[in-house]
Amino acid sequence: MTYIHGFPRIGEKRELKFALEKYWSGQIEIDELQKVAKELRNRHLKYQKEAGVDFISVNDFSFYDNMIDTIVMLGCEPKEYLDLSGIDRYFAMARGDKDHKALPMTKWLNTNYHYFVPQIEPKQEFKPNLDKIIAEYSEAKELKIKPKINIIGPVTFLSFSRGTKGNDPLDEIKSAVDAYMDILKIISKLDDKVTVQFDEPALVKDPTKKMLDALKFAYEKLGNVAENVDIFISTYFEHALEAVDILTECNIKGIGLDFIHGPKNINAVKKIAKSGKILVAGVVDGRNIWISDIDEKVKFLNSLNIDKDRVYVASSCSLLHVPYTLKYEEKMDKNIKSWLAFALEKLDEIKVIDKLYKNEPLNEEEKKIYEANKKANTTRKTSTQIHSVDVQNRLKNLKDSEKQRDTNAEDRLKIQHEVLKYPILPTTTIGSFPQTVEVRKVRRDFKQGLISENEYKSKIKEFIDYCIKVQEDVGLDVLVHGEFERNDMVEYFGEMLEGVTFSQNGWVQSYGSRCVKPPIIFGDVSRPEPMTLEWITYAQSKTKKIMKGMLTGPVTMLNWSFVRDDLPRENVYKQMALAIADEVRDLQEAGIKIIQVDEAAFKEGYPLRNENRSEYERVAVESFKISTAPARAETQIHTHMCYSDFNDIMDTIDAMDADVISIETARNGNRILEAFKNYNYQKEVGAGVYDIHSPRVPSVEEIEKEIADRLSVFPAGKLWINPDCGLKTRKWEEVIPALTNMVTATKSVRKKIVKL
Ligand code: GLN
Ligand code: ZN
Repeated sequence: MTYIHGFPRIGEKRELKFALEKYWSGQIEIDELQKVAKELRNRHLKYQKEAGVDFISVNDFSFYDNMIDTIVMLGCEPKEYLDLSGIDRYFAMARGDKDHKALPMTKWLNTNYHYFVPQIEPKQEFKPNLDKIIAEYSEAKELKIKPKINIIGPVTFLSFSRGTKGNDPLDEIKSAVDAYMDILKIISKLDDKVTVQFDEPALVKDPTKKMLDALKFAYEKLGNVAENVDIFISTYFEHALEAVDILTECNIKGIGLDFIHGPKNINAVKKIAKSGKILVAGVVDGRNIWISDIDEKVKFLNSLNIDKDRVYVASSCSLLHVPYTLKYEEKMDKNIKSWLAFALEKLDEIKVIDKLYKNEPLNEEEKKIYEANKKANTTRKTSTQIHSVDVQNRLKNLKDSEKQRDTNAEDRLKIQHEVLKYPILPTTTIGSFPQTVEVRKVRRDFKQGLISENEYKSKIKEFIDYCIKVQEDVGLDVLVHGEFERNDMVEYFGEMLEGVTFSQNGWVQSYGSRCVKPPIIFGDVSRPEPMTLEWITYAQSKTKKIMKGMLTGPVTMLNWSFVRDDLPRENVYKQMALAIADEVRDLQEAGIKIIQVDEAAFKEGYPLRNENRSEYERVAVESFKISTAPARAETQIHTHMCYSDFNDIMDTIDAMDADVISIETARNGNRILEAFKNYNYQKEVGAGVYDIHSPRVPSVEEIEKEIADRLSVFPAGKLWINPDCGLKTRKWEEVIPALTNMVTATKSVRKKIVKL
C-alpha cells in the first residue's frame, strides 16, 4: 500500500493564490473562488489516483491554513470574531480586517510553513462543525476515491495553541477530546469503513509528560469511538519514540514515522510490528526535492524485516512543503532536473518503491521511472557539475587562519574604536531601504532584457545616491547602500554562486496566498566573482562617512534553501561560508571598514530535539566564523538577527564572535534585554529602538525612552542605536521622519550622558 500524508493545495500554477487575491480585492465573487478551489481539489485527487496512491487525503485542502480550519471544525473561534460568520469570519482570523486583528502566525515546527495560533480560554467550549470535511469527502467519492480524512490531532492542536488568560490550552484536553469524539461519530456514518489520519507532529518535539498523558487520554478514547473508523497517527520531522510507546497500546490502526528526518525512529519499528499496527514508513523525503535512490529505499524497507503487509510506503510528511511538479521547468539544466523530484514525481517514486518491496512486477511506465532513477543517481554521484575538487580540497585543507579571526573581541573593539572613531550610541540601520515600485520596476526591466546592464547599473546607483543623501541629511553615523539591487537577501546571493540554481515554478506555500521559491543548492558551492563589491564600493565613494557592507550569512543561506542531501549538511554550510569569506576579503581589500553578515534565520534552524542542539550550534558557529575569518582586527564585523527568543542561545551568540550584533528589540516588549542582562554580554549590541513592521512613525520621546531602557542593560559605550530590522517594506515618507526622530533622540540622550 502507498500512503501520502497530504498534498499541496496552492495549485501548480498558484491558481489558489491568484483566486484568493482576486476575491480579497473584490474582483471575483465567492462562487468563483469556490469553483477554483474545487477544480484544484479534484485535480490533486486525480493526480494521486492516477499515480496509484492507495491512501489519498481530503481536508488537506485549505483556503488559508489547516490550523484555522481546525478552529472552525472545533467551533472554538475567539469571541472577537463572532460578529462575523462563514468565510468572512474565516478570512478575518487569517488576515484581519478593519475591525479585527488577525490571529498570530508562527512557523509549523521547523518548516517555512506558517500556521495561525488558536486562542484557547480557560474552560473553552467546543462546537463541532463538519461541513468542510463532509463536502470534501463527497467530492472525492464522486471521483470514485475513498479518501482518508486528515485532521490535526487534539494534542498537537492544543500544544500549538495559546491560552488567552495565561492558561495552558492542554488543560482543555478533556473537552477537546469530547469534541473530537463527536466528530468521529459523525465521520463514522460517512461510509461503511472510514479512515482518519490525525496529525500529531507536536509529539516529535521533546514531548512533556503532560503532552504524553494527554496523548494517552485522547487516543484511548478516540480509538474506541467507532468500529468502522481506522485511525492513523502521523508524526514527522523527527523521531516520535515516546509517542510510539503510548500509541502502540491504543486502539488505532497505524503510526506514521519519518525515517528521513528522524532516523532514530528505526528503534520503534519492532514495537509497532509487535503491536500488530501498520507502520506508515516515511521513506521518501516530503520536504526536500531530491530524487530518492529507489534501490536504497527498497533495501532499507527490507532491512526492517517485518511483515510486508503491515508496512505502507509513504512520504515522510505532507507534500505541502515541496513544489508540485517538474513539468514546467523548461529552462532548468537537464542534468540538474534529473536529480530532482517534486510532489508529482515523488508519487511515482513511492509507487515503484512499493512494488519492488512487495516483489510485484513493474509495468512499462514504472520500469522507465525506475531505470531513469538508477541512471540519475549514478550521474549525481560523479557529475562535475556537482563535484568540484577545488572546493572540496579547500575545505579539507582549511588553515586555522581561515577558521576564525586571530584576535579576541576585546582587543579588536579597542582597535576599531581608534580607527572608526564613532561617537557613543552610534546610529545606523539594518541594511535595506524602501523597495519602491520604481526600484522593483528597474530590476524587473533588467531581468526581462528591457534595459541594458549599463542603464540598470546607473539607475541602481541613482537609488544609492538618494539613499546616501537621506542618511547624511538625517545624520546617521554608519551608512548603508540600501540593497536596491536585491530582490531577496538569499536569492540575490544564490543567483551568483556556483552550485546553486533556481526553478521557474518551484513555489511552496509559506502562509495563506504567499509562496516562496527557495534556491536549490545542488552542488559544491563557490563564488566565481564578487557579488556586492561594485555596489558597496560605489556607495563608499559617495560619502565620507563609514559605509557598512551587507552580506547574508551561511546559516541563513542554507536555512532558506533546498539543500543537497548527498553531502553532510556541515560541509554545505562550510562551503557556503567560504564563498562568503571571499566576499568579506574583497570588501576589506577595497577599504570597507564595517561588514554586516546577516543571520536572520539562525534561530529558526534550531533542531526540534534538544539532543541535536549542540551539534547544530557547533556547525552554525563554525560556519559563521569561517565566513568572517578574513576580517582583520580593525575591520568591524556586525551580524543581525530578527526575533526575540535569545534566552537559551546566548552562549552561541557570544561564540559567533561578531563585534556588534543588531537585534529586534522594540517589537517584542524588550524581553530580549533580559537575556543580555543576565548573560553579561561584553561585545557591542544594536538593540532595535523601533518596530519596522508598522507604518507608524515613533516620536522622539518614545525613542528616548527606548534608549533609556537599553541603557539600563548595556553601558553607553557598547550600545548602538538602530531600528529593529531592514526598512525595505516601508515608504520613504515613513522612514525619513522615523530615522530623524531616532537621531534626534540619540543626540539628546548623548548630551545627558556627557553631562553626567
Ligand atoms: N539586511 C537585511 C535588510 O535590511 C536584513 C533582513 C532581515 O533581517 N530579514 O533587509
Ligand atoms: Zn531582521
